[in-house]
Amino acid sequence: MSKPLRITAVKGMNDILPPESARWEWLEAVVRRAMAAHAFRNVRTPIMEHTQLFTRGLGEVTDIVEKEMYSFEDRQDQHGHADHLSLRPENTAGVVRAAAEHNLLYDGGKRLYYMGPMFRRERPQRGRYRQFHQIGAEALGFGGPEVDAELILLAAHLWAELGIRHWRLELNCLGQPDERRGHRAALIAYFEAHQGQLDEDARRRLHSNPLRILDTKNPAMQALVEGAPKLIDHLGEASRAHFQAVQDVLAANGIAFAINPRLVRGLDYYNLTVFEFITEHLGAQGTLCGGGRYDYLIEQIGGKPAPAVGWALGVERVLELLKEEGVAVPDPVPDAYAVIPDAGGVPQAMRCLRALRARGVAVQMHAGGEAGLGSMKSQFKKADGSGARFALIFGADEVAAGEVTVKALRDGAGAQARRPLADPATWADSLKSPA
Ligand code: AMP
Repeated sequence: MSKPLRITAVKGMNDILPPESARWEWLEAVVRRAMAAHAFRNVRTPIMEHTQLFTRGLGEVTDIVEKEMYSFEDRQDQHGHADHLSLRPENTAGVVRAAAEHNLLYDGGKRLYYMGPMFRRERPQRGRYRQFHQIGAEALGFGGPEVDAELILLAAHLWAELGIRHWRLELNCLGQPDERRGHRAALIAYFEAHQGQLDEDARRRLHSNPLRILDTKNPAMQALVEGAPKLIDHLGEASRAHFQAVQDVLAANGIAFAINPRLVRGLDYYNLTVFEFITEHLGAQGTLCGGGRYDYLIEQIGGKPAPAVGWALGVERVLELLKEEGVAVPDPVPDAYAVIPDAGGVPQAMRCLRALRARGVAVQMHAGGEAGLGSMKSQFKKADGSGARFALIFGADEVAAGEVTVKALRDGAGAQARRPLADPATWADSLKSPA
């Protein structure tokens, strides 16, 4: 006999189930409040885009585009044309595409945020998945250093609201394209002079993306990379002033940071400020949030030139860190559990529950099986297990008298009172948990 087919989730893609999903909802609610406090507005773009958006936007020779995208050719239309599509590996390019397509910047800059799944075919491990979730903030149409600083402060605000304490901030300035070209030439010359010490990855990147060699994790190349020409020495007056202005705001706000000249980020589109929030508490995948300025991306994908700056954080990693730090997230429990000893009471009970729910009371109704609703004892066991503060008992006597018994299950356990079924509005609030 053949084994029954058991279909599982795709490798590296996770189901998010209760009670874990409550932690996601809590985090998302904190984020929405934080975004509103900074006047960022929500955007939702498709999960799938034309592959070209990413090859043009992120750069052909980035890891993501070279090996990690889920790309496919769509079915042909009646003219024999088929689109090349990709699941989004990140969402800055999508947001920028949407802003350009809808001329969102016609009346000035926009502060936007998004939340949602991203897809990268990476080797799954702790903190690294193939479907993962990002929350991102993007400020489009603003060129000044105060907006770079505002975005960094927004992330720091979020950590504080979430109760995350173990983070540090690294900053760098990638300058402007002409400054980078000067540095790139110096870098290629330096690595060419030390060809023998390059690993295979570095040799491959030497002429295509030498900046990424600085990002190497290979211990054998650390000394070589340490001694490489620094971009910071190739920056002109304006870039230095921009970088200094960002640092001044952070310093005035008591945000500690370290300048890391080797911080280059994985994508091609950044210029001037780049930054990462890192934690030591998550092992190898310690980058919580990364971002920077990308003044040339909008133009690169065919929009009207406009400066921009943004970041994205990894939701799975932030949630993992919350656990590591012991941050307690409230698990939602119903305010009340409806015990219905006799099936004859069901219609009346459900009428009452509807009225309570409409007034914001969270009520879990007892539900039975084929054999009926079950004994009082088993219903009370369920009521206890639900975590509810009150049991609502719709017994035959009560219902006949037009009433329901409200019994405290936790604070003052056992205390009970009869309430009128006709008028739930008068007592609904007494069931709600104190906020
Ligand atoms: P990036 O777009 O690569 O700068 O990533 C921004 C953030 O998303 C990172 O700092 C991580 O927190 C998170 N992230 C990136 N890739 C993954 C992944 N494969 N799995 C989980 N989180 C990720």
